[in-house]
Amino acid sequence: MNISRRDLFKFAGISAVAAAMTGCSTKAFDSLPAKAGESTGVMLGKHQVVVIGGGFGGLTVAKELKKIDPKFDVVIIEKNDSFMSCPFSNCNLGGIEGVNLGTLTHDYSQAVEANGYGMLTAVVTGIDRTAKVVHTSKGSVGYDILVMAPGIDYNYKGQFPTWDAAKIAKARRLAPAALVPGGEHIALDRMVKNMEDGDVVVITVPAGKYRCPPAPFERASMIANFMKKEGIKGQVIILNETDEIAKGAAFKESWKEINAGVVEHISNCKIVDVDFDKKEITYVQTVFANKEDTDGIKTTKTQKYGVFNFIPHNMSNPVVEMSGVATTPDGFKKVKMATSAEKPVSFATATDASVYAIGDVVGHAIPPSGQSAIWSGKECAKEIAHVLHGKSYSVATALPYKSANVCYSMVNGNPEEAIMVNHEFIVAGPVIGSKGSVPKGDTVNDKYRSSGLGKATRDWYKGAMRDLFS
Ligand SMILES: Cc1cc2nc3c(=O)[nH]c(=O)nc-3n(C[C@H](O)[C@H](O)[C@H](O)COP(=O)(O)OP(=O)(O)OC[C@H]3O[C@@H](n4cnc5c(N)ncnc54)[C@H](O)[C@@H]3O)c2cc1C
Repeated sequence: MNISRRDLFKFAGISAVAAAMTGCSTKAFDSLPAKAGESTGVMLGKHQVVVIGGGFGGLTVAKELKKIDPKFDVVIIEKNDSFMSCPFSNCNLGGIEGVNLGTLTHDYSQAVEANGYGMLTAVVTGIDRTAKVVHTSKGSVGYDILVMAPGIDYNYKGQFPTWDAAKIAKARRLAPAALVPGGEHIALDRMVKNMEDGDVVVITVPAGKYRCPPAPFERASMIANFMKKEGIKGQVIILNETDEIAKGAAFKESWKEINAGVVEHISNCKIVDVDFDKKEITYVQTVFANKEDTDGIKTTKTQKYGVFNFIPHNMSNPVVEMSGVATTPDGFKKVKMATSAEKPVSFATATDASVYAIGDVVGHAIPPSGQSAIWSGKECAKEIAHVLHGKSYSVATALPYKSANVCYSMVNGNPEEAIMVNHEFIVAGPVIGSKGSVPKGDTVNDKYRSSGLGKATRDWYKGAMRDLFS
Protein backbone atom coordinates (compact mmCIF):
# COMPACT_ATOMS: atom_id res chain seq x y z
CA MET A 1 0.00 0.00 0.00
CA ASN A 2 1.31 3.45 -0.87
CA ILE A 3 0.18 6.36 1.31
CA SER A 4 -1.38 9.14 -0.73
CA ARG A 5 -0.71 12.78 0.16
CA ARG A 6 -4.37 13.01 1.21
CA ASP A 7 -3.99 10.01 3.58
CA LEU A 8 -0.88 11.55 5.05
CA PHE A 9 -2.81 14.71 5.80
CA LYS A 10 -5.41 12.65 7.60
CA PHE A 11 -2.62 11.36 9.86
CA ALA A 12 -1.45 14.95 10.34
CA GLY A 13 -5.01 15.93 11.28
CA ILE A 14 -5.31 13.14 13.86
CA SER A 15 -1.99 14.15 15.37
CA ALA A 16 -3.01 17.79 15.60
CA VAL A 17 -6.21 16.87 17.41
CA ALA A 18 -4.32 14.51 19.75
CA ALA A 19 -1.84 17.25 20.57
CA ALA A 20 -4.65 19.71 21.21
CA MET A 21 -6.41 17.22 23.48
CA THR A 22 -3.33 16.40 25.54
CA GLY A 23 -2.36 20.06 25.49
CA CYS A 24 1.31 19.25 25.48
CA SER A 25 3.58 17.28 23.20
CA THR A 26 5.37 15.39 26.01
CA LYS A 27 2.04 13.72 26.91
CA ALA A 28 1.71 12.59 23.31
CA PHE A 29 5.22 11.08 23.56
CA ASP A 30 4.26 9.25 26.79
CA SER A 31 1.43 7.50 25.03
CA LEU A 32 3.42 6.15 22.08
CA PRO A 33 1.83 2.94 20.83
CA ALA A 34 5.27 1.40 20.25
CA LYS A 35 8.37 1.25 22.43
CA ALA A 36 11.48 2.83 20.90
CA GLY A 37 12.75 0.63 18.09
CA GLU A 38 9.67 -1.57 17.96
CA SER A 39 7.19 -1.83 15.12
CA THR A 40 3.49 -1.10 15.71
CA GLY A 41 2.81 -3.94 13.28
CA VAL A 42 1.11 -1.47 10.92
CA MET A 43 2.85 -1.03 7.54
CA LEU A 44 1.79 2.37 6.23
CA GLY A 45 3.54 2.16 2.86
CA LYS A 46 6.85 2.41 1.03
CA HIS A 47 8.44 5.44 -0.62
CA GLN A 48 11.43 6.14 -2.84
CA VAL A 49 12.80 8.77 -0.45
CA VAL A 50 11.85 9.11 3.22
CA VAL A 51 13.11 12.21 5.05
CA ILE A 52 13.17 12.26 8.87
CA GLY A 53 12.64 15.80 10.15
CA GLY A 54 10.67 18.72 8.72
CA GLY A 55 13.11 21.43 9.75
CA PHE A 56 15.51 23.57 7.71
CA GLY A 57 17.35 20.60 6.15
CA GLY A 58 14.43 18.20 5.72
CA LEU A 59 12.03 20.65 4.08
CA THR A 60 14.78 21.73 1.67
CA VAL A 61 15.90 18.27 0.52
CA ALA A 62 12.26 17.21 -0.05
CA LYS A 63 11.44 20.38 -2.01
CA GLU A 64 14.57 20.20 -4.16
CA LEU A 65 13.98 16.53 -5.03
CA LYS A 66 10.44 17.32 -6.23
CA LYS A 67 11.78 20.33 -8.17
CA ILE A 68 14.39 18.17 -9.92
CA ASP A 69 11.89 15.42 -10.80
CA PRO A 70 8.21 15.77 -9.85
CA LYS A 71 7.85 11.99 -10.33
CA PHE A 72 10.06 11.27 -7.30
CA ASP A 73 7.98 9.83 -4.44
CA VAL A 74 9.12 11.76 -1.35
CA VAL A 75 7.69 11.74 2.18
CA ILE A 76 8.78 13.69 5.28
CA ILE A 77 8.16 12.24 8.76
CA GLU A 78 7.94 15.06 11.34
CA LYS A 79 6.85 14.81 14.97
CA ASN A 80 5.49 18.37 15.34
CA ASP A 81 2.27 19.38 13.59
CA SER A 82 3.49 22.91 12.98
CA PHE A 83 6.86 24.52 12.31
CA MET A 84 8.54 26.94 14.69
CA SER A 85 11.72 28.71 13.63
CA CYS A 86 14.73 29.01 15.95
CA PRO A 87 16.35 31.62 13.64
CA PHE A 88 14.83 35.07 14.37
CA SER A 89 13.48 33.80 17.75
CA ASN A 90 15.93 36.06 19.61
CA CYS A 91 14.33 39.05 17.85
CA ASN A 92 11.05 38.00 19.45
CA LEU A 93 12.72 37.95 22.89
CA GLY A 94 14.24 41.35 22.13
CA GLY A 95 10.88 42.99 21.46
CA ILE A 96 11.94 43.91 17.94
CA GLU A 97 9.19 45.89 16.19
CA GLY A 98 6.42 43.68 14.76
CA VAL A 99 8.07 40.38 15.74
CA ASN A 100 6.12 37.91 17.90
CA LEU A 101 5.75 34.14 18.37
CA GLY A 102 3.41 34.09 15.35
CA THR A 103 6.26 35.41 13.19
CA LEU A 104 8.17 32.20 14.00
CA THR A 105 5.31 29.75 13.41
CA HIS A 106 4.26 28.23 10.08
CA ASP A 107 1.82 25.51 9.05
CA TYR A 108 3.21 22.55 7.13
CA SER A 109 0.14 22.28 4.85
CA GLN A 110 1.39 25.32 2.91
CA ALA A 111 4.75 23.64 2.18
CA VAL A 112 3.15 20.30 1.24
CA GLU A 113 0.68 21.93 -1.15
CA ALA A 114 3.35 24.12 -2.78
CA ASN A 115 5.97 21.42 -3.23
CA GLY A 116 4.11 18.13 -3.74
CA TYR A 117 5.84 15.87 -1.21
CA GLY A 118 3.94 13.91 1.44
CA MET A 119 4.16 14.49 5.16
CA LEU A 120 3.40 12.10 8.00
CA THR A 121 3.02 13.65 11.44
CA ALA A 122 4.54 10.97 13.66
CA VAL A 123 7.46 10.34 16.00
CA VAL A 124 10.24 8.16 14.59
CA THR A 125 10.92 5.42 17.15
CA GLY A 126 13.29 3.08 15.30
CA ILE A 127 15.11 2.39 12.04
CA ASP A 128 15.70 -1.07 10.58
CA ARG A 129 18.35 -0.59 7.89
CA THR A 130 18.34 -4.27 6.88
CA ALA A 131 14.61 -4.22 6.12
CA LYS A 132 14.85 -0.53 4.97
CA VAL A 133 11.98 0.46 7.24
CA VAL A 134 11.42 3.42 9.60
CA HIS A 135 9.21 2.67 12.63
CA THR A 136 7.01 5.51 13.87
CA SER A 137 4.31 6.10 16.48
CA LYS A 138 1.72 5.66 13.68
CA GLY A 139 3.19 2.61 11.94
CA SER A 140 6.14 1.67 9.72
CA VAL A 141 7.28 3.25 6.46
CA GLY A 142 9.57 1.54 3.93
CA TYR A 143 12.21 3.40 1.92
CA ASP A 144 14.67 3.03 -0.94
CA ILE A 145 16.67 6.04 0.28
CA LEU A 146 16.56 7.52 3.78
CA VAL A 147 17.60 11.09 4.65
CA MET A 148 18.17 11.90 8.34
CA ALA A 149 17.57 15.58 9.14
CA PRO A 150 16.47 15.35 12.80
CA GLY A 151 18.60 18.17 14.27
CA ILE A 152 20.00 18.14 17.79
CA ASP A 153 19.14 16.95 21.27
CA TYR A 154 20.38 18.07 24.70
CA ASN A 155 22.92 15.93 26.57
CA TYR A 156 22.00 16.75 30.21
CA LYS A 157 22.81 13.17 31.23
CA GLY A 158 26.34 13.30 29.77
CA GLN A 159 27.04 16.67 31.38
CA PHE A 160 25.51 15.83 34.78
CA PRO A 161 25.73 12.05 35.24
CA THR A 162 24.41 12.25 38.84
CA TRP A 163 21.21 14.12 37.91
CA ASP A 164 18.11 11.91 37.88
CA ALA A 165 15.25 12.13 35.37
CA ALA A 166 13.21 14.39 37.68
CA LYS A 167 16.03 16.97 37.95
CA ILE A 168 16.59 16.94 34.20
CA ALA A 169 12.85 17.43 33.64
CA LYS A 170 12.98 20.37 36.07
CA ALA A 171 15.89 21.88 34.13
CA ARG A 172 13.92 21.58 30.87
CA ARG A 173 10.83 23.15 32.46
CA LEU A 174 12.30 25.90 34.63
CA ALA A 175 15.40 26.85 32.61
CA PRO A 176 14.52 26.10 28.96
CA ALA A 177 17.44 25.97 26.54
CA ALA A 178 15.25 27.08 23.61
CA LEU A 179 17.61 25.65 21.02
CA VAL A 180 15.07 23.34 19.35
CA PRO A 181 11.74 24.20 17.69
CA GLY A 182 8.65 24.16 19.92
CA GLY A 183 7.36 25.03 23.37
CA GLU A 184 10.71 25.97 24.94
CA HIS A 185 10.64 29.21 22.93
CA ILE A 186 7.20 29.99 24.34
CA ALA A 187 8.38 29.25 27.91
CA LEU A 188 11.51 31.40 27.62
CA ASP A 189 9.46 34.20 26.05
CA ARG A 190 7.07 34.11 29.06
CA MET A 191 9.97 34.18 31.54
CA VAL A 192 11.67 37.14 29.85
CA LYS A 193 8.39 39.07 29.47
CA ASN A 194 7.65 38.53 33.21
CA MET A 195 11.02 39.90 34.38
CA GLU A 196 11.10 42.23 37.37
CA ASP A 197 13.47 45.10 38.21
CA GLY A 198 16.70 43.69 39.68
CA ASP A 199 16.40 40.31 37.98
CA VAL A 200 19.55 38.70 36.65
CA VAL A 201 19.20 36.71 33.41
CA VAL A 202 21.84 33.97 33.11
CA ILE A 203 22.64 32.35 29.76
CA THR A 204 25.05 29.40 29.65
CA VAL A 205 27.21 28.59 26.62
CA PRO A 206 28.26 24.93 26.36
CA ALA A 207 31.62 23.50 25.27
CA GLY A 208 31.80 21.28 22.17
CA LYS A 209 29.71 21.50 19.00
CA TYR A 210 26.36 23.16 19.63
CA ARG A 211 23.58 24.57 17.45
CA CYS A 212 24.19 28.07 16.06
CA PRO A 213 27.30 29.27 17.94
CA PRO A 214 26.31 32.98 17.80
CA ALA A 215 22.77 32.30 19.17
CA PRO A 216 23.44 32.61 22.95
CA PHE A 217 25.35 35.87 22.42
CA GLU A 218 22.64 37.33 20.16
CA ARG A 219 20.12 36.29 22.84
CA ALA A 220 22.07 38.28 25.46
CA SER A 221 21.99 41.38 23.22
CA MET A 222 18.29 40.97 22.51
CA ILE A 223 17.23 40.42 26.14
CA ALA A 224 19.26 43.52 27.05
CA ASN A 225 17.40 45.36 24.29
CA PHE A 226 14.04 44.22 25.69
CA MET A 227 15.05 45.43 29.17
CA LYS A 228 16.09 48.83 27.78
CA LYS A 229 12.85 49.16 25.79
CA GLU A 230 10.68 48.29 28.82
CA GLY A 231 12.77 50.27 31.34
CA ILE A 232 13.60 47.12 33.36
CA LYS A 233 16.71 47.46 35.50
CA GLY A 234 18.61 44.19 35.50
CA GLN A 235 21.62 42.33 34.15
CA VAL A 236 22.40 39.65 31.57
CA ILE A 237 25.29 37.37 32.56
CA ILE A 238 26.78 34.90 30.06
CA LEU A 239 28.54 31.95 31.74
CA ASN A 240 30.66 30.54 28.92
CA GLU A 241 32.28 27.11 29.40
CA THR A 242 35.11 28.18 27.06
CA ASP A 243 36.52 31.58 26.08
CA GLU A 244 35.20 31.38 22.51
CA ILE A 245 32.61 33.88 21.30
CA ALA A 246 31.32 33.42 17.75
CA LYS A 247 31.60 36.80 15.94
CA GLY A 248 33.51 37.75 19.13
CA ALA A 249 34.96 41.16 18.23
CA ALA A 250 31.62 42.28 16.81
CA PHE A 251 29.57 41.20 19.85
CA LYS A 252 32.12 42.73 22.26
CA GLU A 253 31.94 46.03 20.37
CA SER A 254 28.16 46.17 20.64
CA TRP A 255 28.03 45.11 24.32
CA LYS A 256 30.56 47.85 25.18
CA GLU A 257 28.84 50.57 23.17
CA ILE A 258 25.15 49.64 23.55
CA ASN A 259 24.82 47.46 26.65
CA ALA A 260 27.57 48.72 29.00
CA GLY A 261 26.90 47.58 32.59
CA VAL A 262 24.06 45.30 31.47
CA VAL A 263 25.68 42.44 29.49
CA GLU A 264 28.60 40.71 31.20
CA HIS A 265 30.48 37.82 29.57
CA ILE A 266 32.49 35.48 31.85
CA SER A 267 34.84 32.92 30.23
CA ASN A 268 35.78 29.38 31.32
CA CYS A 269 32.86 28.72 33.65
CA LYS A 270 32.01 25.05 34.16
CA ILE A 271 28.52 24.55 35.62
CA VAL A 272 28.73 22.18 38.57
CA ASP A 273 25.16 22.17 39.86
CA VAL A 274 21.90 24.12 39.82
CA ASP A 275 19.40 24.50 42.66
CA PHE A 276 16.22 25.23 40.75
CA ASP A 277 14.25 25.96 43.96
CA LYS A 278 16.75 28.49 45.34
CA LYS A 279 17.41 29.73 41.76
CA GLU A 280 21.15 29.39 42.28
CA ILE A 281 23.89 28.16 39.93
CA THR A 282 27.19 26.75 41.23
CA TYR A 283 30.09 26.93 38.79
CA VAL A 284 33.86 26.70 38.72
CA GLN A 285 35.62 29.57 36.98
CA THR A 286 39.18 29.01 35.72
CA VAL A 287 41.40 32.03 35.23
CA PHE A 288 44.50 31.44 33.08
CA ALA A 289 47.57 33.65 33.54
CA ASN A 290 48.53 33.42 29.85
CA LYS A 291 48.29 31.15 26.78
CA GLU A 292 50.96 28.77 28.10
CA ASP A 293 49.09 28.30 31.40
CA THR A 294 47.05 25.13 30.94
CA ASP A 295 45.97 24.63 34.58
CA GLY A 296 44.79 28.09 35.60
CA ILE A 297 43.41 29.04 39.01
CA LYS A 298 40.02 27.53 39.78
CA THR A 299 37.43 29.22 42.00
CA THR A 300 33.99 27.85 42.91
CA LYS A 301 31.30 30.54 42.69
CA THR A 302 27.53 30.82 42.99
CA GLN A 303 25.18 32.97 40.92
CA LYS A 304 21.54 33.80 41.75
CA TYR A 305 19.17 34.28 38.84
CA GLY A 306 15.69 35.52 38.02
CA VAL A 307 15.59 33.97 34.53
CA PHE A 308 17.82 31.06 33.52
CA ASN A 309 18.40 30.10 29.86
CA PHE A 310 20.34 26.93 30.60
CA ILE A 311 21.94 25.67 27.36
CA PRO A 312 23.45 22.24 28.09
CA HIS A 313 25.88 20.23 25.96
CA ASN A 314 24.39 19.32 22.57
CA MET A 315 24.40 16.00 20.76
CA SER A 316 22.99 14.50 17.56
CA ASN A 317 19.28 13.73 17.79
CA PRO A 318 18.65 10.09 18.97
CA VAL A 319 17.33 9.27 15.47
CA VAL A 320 20.99 9.01 14.41
CA GLU A 321 21.70 6.38 17.07
CA MET A 322 18.50 4.52 16.06
CA SER A 323 19.94 4.14 12.56
CA GLY A 324 23.13 2.53 13.87
CA VAL A 325 25.36 4.43 11.40
CA ALA A 326 28.92 5.23 12.49
CA THR A 327 29.40 8.46 14.45
CA THR A 328 32.38 10.37 15.82
CA PRO A 329 33.58 9.39 19.34
CA ASP A 330 33.11 12.93 20.77
CA GLY A 331 30.12 13.92 22.94
CA PHE A 332 28.14 15.30 19.97
CA LYS A 333 28.30 12.07 17.92
CA LYS A 334 28.40 13.58 14.43
CA VAL A 335 27.48 11.28 11.54
CA LYS A 336 30.55 9.93 9.71
CA MET A 337 30.18 10.87 6.05
CA ALA A 338 31.12 8.77 3.01
CA THR A 339 34.28 9.58 1.07
CA SER A 340 35.79 7.98 -2.05
CA ALA A 341 38.09 8.88 -4.92
CA GLU A 342 35.07 9.53 -7.14
CA LYS A 343 33.13 11.51 -4.49
CA PRO A 344 35.63 12.98 -1.98
CA VAL A 345 32.81 14.66 -0.03
CA SER A 346 29.23 13.50 0.20
CA PHE A 347 26.00 13.65 2.20
CA ALA A 348 25.75 9.84 2.13
CA THR A 349 26.73 8.24 5.44
CA ALA A 350 30.01 6.30 5.66
CA THR A 351 28.08 3.22 6.86
CA ASP A 352 25.20 2.87 4.39
CA ALA A 353 24.98 4.17 0.79
CA SER A 354 21.15 4.27 1.08
CA VAL A 355 21.20 6.51 4.15
CA TYR A 356 22.06 10.22 3.94
CA ALA A 357 22.43 12.89 6.65
CA ILE A 358 22.04 16.67 6.44
CA GLY A 359 21.73 19.69 8.74
CA ASP A 360 23.22 19.92 12.22
CA VAL A 361 24.04 16.20 12.56
CA VAL A 362 26.54 16.01 9.67
CA GLY A 363 30.19 15.19 10.27
CA HIS A 364 31.31 17.94 7.88
CA ALA A 365 33.28 20.84 9.38
CA ILE A 366 30.62 23.41 8.55
CA PRO A 367 28.67 25.63 11.00
CA PRO A 368 25.50 24.05 12.45
CA SER A 369 23.14 26.70 11.05
CA GLY A 370 19.83 26.91 9.21
CA GLN A 371 21.64 28.33 6.18
CA SER A 372 24.10 25.39 6.17
CA ALA A 373 21.13 23.01 6.50
CA ILE A 374 19.44 24.64 3.48
CA TRP A 375 22.69 24.41 1.47
CA SER A 376 23.26 20.79 2.49
CA GLY A 377 19.62 19.93 1.68
CA LYS A 378 20.04 21.31 -1.85
CA GLU A 379 23.33 19.49 -2.45
CA CYS A 380 22.03 16.24 -0.93
CA ALA A 381 18.98 16.41 -3.25
CA LYS A 382 21.29 16.68 -6.28
CA GLU A 383 23.27 13.64 -5.07
CA ILE A 384 20.13 11.54 -4.51
CA ALA A 385 18.48 12.63 -7.78
CA HIS A 386 21.54 11.50 -9.70
CA VAL A 387 21.48 8.12 -7.96
CA LEU A 388 17.76 7.67 -8.72
CA HIS A 389 18.43 8.62 -12.37
CA GLY A 390 21.37 6.19 -12.51
CA LYS A 391 24.00 8.95 -12.85
CA SER A 392 26.92 10.14 -10.75
CA TYR A 393 27.31 13.51 -9.00
CA SER A 394 30.00 14.70 -6.60
CA VAL A 395 29.33 17.56 -4.15
CA ALA A 396 33.03 18.45 -4.58
CA THR A 397 32.17 19.93 -8.01
CA ALA A 398 30.09 22.62 -6.21
CA LEU A 399 33.07 23.65 -4.05
CA PRO A 400 34.56 26.08 -3.19
CA TYR A 401 31.23 27.86 -2.62
CA LYS A 402 31.35 31.48 -1.48
CA SER A 403 28.73 32.71 1.05
CA ALA A 404 27.39 29.18 1.57
CA ASN A 405 26.60 30.25 5.13
CA VAL A 406 25.66 33.86 5.86
CA CYS A 407 24.44 34.30 9.41
CA TYR A 408 23.18 37.57 10.91
CA SER A 409 22.74 38.45 14.60
CA MET A 410 20.58 41.39 15.69
CA VAL A 411 22.40 43.39 18.38
CA ASN A 412 20.24 46.52 18.74
CA GLY A 413 16.55 47.38 18.45
CA ASN A 414 16.53 51.15 18.15
CA PRO A 415 17.97 51.67 15.61
CA GLU A 416 17.79 48.08 14.35
CA GLU A 417 21.40 47.01 13.88
CA ALA A 418 23.01 43.61 13.24
CA ILE A 419 26.38 41.96 12.70
CA MET A 420 27.21 39.07 10.35
CA VAL A 421 29.54 36.18 9.56
CA ASN A 422 30.16 34.85 6.07
CA HIS A 423 31.48 31.31 5.43
CA GLU A 424 32.96 29.91 2.26
CA PHE A 425 32.63 26.09 2.02
CA ILE A 426 35.61 24.14 0.70
CA VAL A 427 36.82 20.55 0.27
CA ALA A 428 38.90 19.82 3.38
CA GLY A 429 40.19 16.27 3.01
CA PRO A 430 37.32 13.78 3.40
CA VAL A 431 34.85 16.41 4.65
CA ILE A 432 33.42 19.78 3.66
CA GLY A 433 35.23 22.51 5.59
CA SER A 434 34.57 26.22 5.98
CA LYS A 435 36.43 29.53 6.16
CA GLY A 436 34.63 32.31 8.03
CA SER A 437 35.02 36.08 8.12
CA VAL A 438 33.23 38.80 10.09
CA PRO A 439 33.14 41.95 7.94
CA LYS A 440 32.46 45.46 9.27
CA GLY A 441 28.92 46.48 8.28
CA ASP A 442 29.58 50.21 8.72
CA THR A 443 32.87 51.07 7.03
CA VAL A 444 32.27 54.84 7.36
CA ASN A 445 32.25 54.66 11.17
CA ASP A 446 34.44 51.53 11.30
CA LYS A 447 31.83 49.47 13.18
CA TYR A 448 30.82 45.82 12.87
CA ARG A 449 27.14 46.60 13.38
CA SER A 450 25.01 48.54 10.92
CA SER A 451 21.41 49.32 10.05
CA GLY A 452 21.99 47.76 6.63
CA LEU A 453 22.77 44.44 8.33
CA GLY A 454 19.69 44.94 10.54
CA LYS A 455 17.56 45.09 7.39
CA ALA A 456 19.47 42.13 5.92
CA THR A 457 18.56 40.08 9.04
CA ARG A 458 14.85 40.60 8.38
CA ASP A 459 15.32 39.96 4.63
CA TRP A 460 17.26 36.72 5.29
CA TYR A 461 14.51 35.38 7.55
CA LYS A 462 11.75 36.27 5.08
CA GLY A 463 13.74 34.66 2.23
CA ALA A 464 14.42 31.48 4.23
CA MET A 465 10.72 31.08 5.11
CA ARG A 466 9.78 31.71 1.45
CA ASP A 467 12.32 29.03 0.46
CA LEU A 468 10.88 26.46 2.88
CA PHE A 469 7.16 27.16 2.58
CA SER A 470 6.45 28.19 -1.03
C1 LIG B 1 18.12 30.88 18.91
C2 LIG B 1 18.62 30.38 17.59
C3 LIG B 1 18.90 31.26 16.57
C4 LIG B 1 19.35 30.79 15.34
N1 LIG B 1 19.61 31.69 14.34
C5 LIG B 1 20.06 31.25 13.15
C6 LIG B 1 20.29 32.19 12.09
O1 LIG B 1 20.13 33.41 12.25
N2 LIG B 1 20.72 31.71 10.89
C7 LIG B 1 20.91 30.37 10.70
O2 LIG B 1 21.31 30.00 9.58
N3 LIG B 1 20.71 29.45 11.68
C8 LIG B 1 20.28 29.85 12.89
N4 LIG B 1 20.02 28.94 13.89
C9 LIG B 1 20.36 27.49 13.69
C10 LIG B 1 19.26 26.68 13.02
O3 LIG B 1 18.04 26.77 13.71
C11 LIG B 1 19.65 25.20 12.94
O4 LIG B 1 21.00 25.08 12.59
C12 LIG B 1 18.78 24.48 11.91
O5 LIG B 1 17.44 24.47 12.38
C13 LIG B 1 19.28 23.06 11.65
O6 LIG B 1 18.43 22.43 10.73
P1 LIG B 1 18.12 20.86 10.86
O7 LIG B 1 17.28 20.53 9.69
O8 LIG B 1 19.38 20.12 11.07
O9 LIG B 1 17.28 20.71 12.23
P2 LIG B 1 15.86 21.32 12.61
O10 LIG B 1 15.58 22.54 11.84
O11 LIG B 1 15.81 21.40 14.10
O12 LIG B 1 14.84 20.19 12.14
C14 LIG B 1 14.81 18.93 12.76
C15 LIG B 1 13.37 18.43 12.73
O13 LIG B 1 13.34 17.03 13.06
C16 LIG B 1 12.22 16.79 13.87
N5 LIG B 1 12.46 15.55 14.65
C17 LIG B 1 13.40 15.35 15.60
N6 LIG B 1 13.29 14.11 16.11
C18 LIG B 1 12.26 13.52 15.47
C19 LIG B 1 11.66 12.23 15.57
N7 LIG B 1 12.09 11.30 16.45
N8 LIG B 1 10.61 11.96 14.78
C20 LIG B 1 10.14 12.87 13.90
N9 LIG B 1 10.67 14.11 13.76
C21 LIG B 1 11.72 14.43 14.54
C22 LIG B 1 12.14 18.05 14.74
O14 LIG B 1 10.84 18.21 15.29
C23 LIG B 1 12.50 19.15 13.75
O15 LIG B 1 11.37 19.72 13.12
C24 LIG B 1 19.55 29.39 15.14
C25 LIG B 1 19.27 28.49 16.17
C26 LIG B 1 18.81 28.97 17.40
C27 LIG B 1 18.50 27.99 18.49
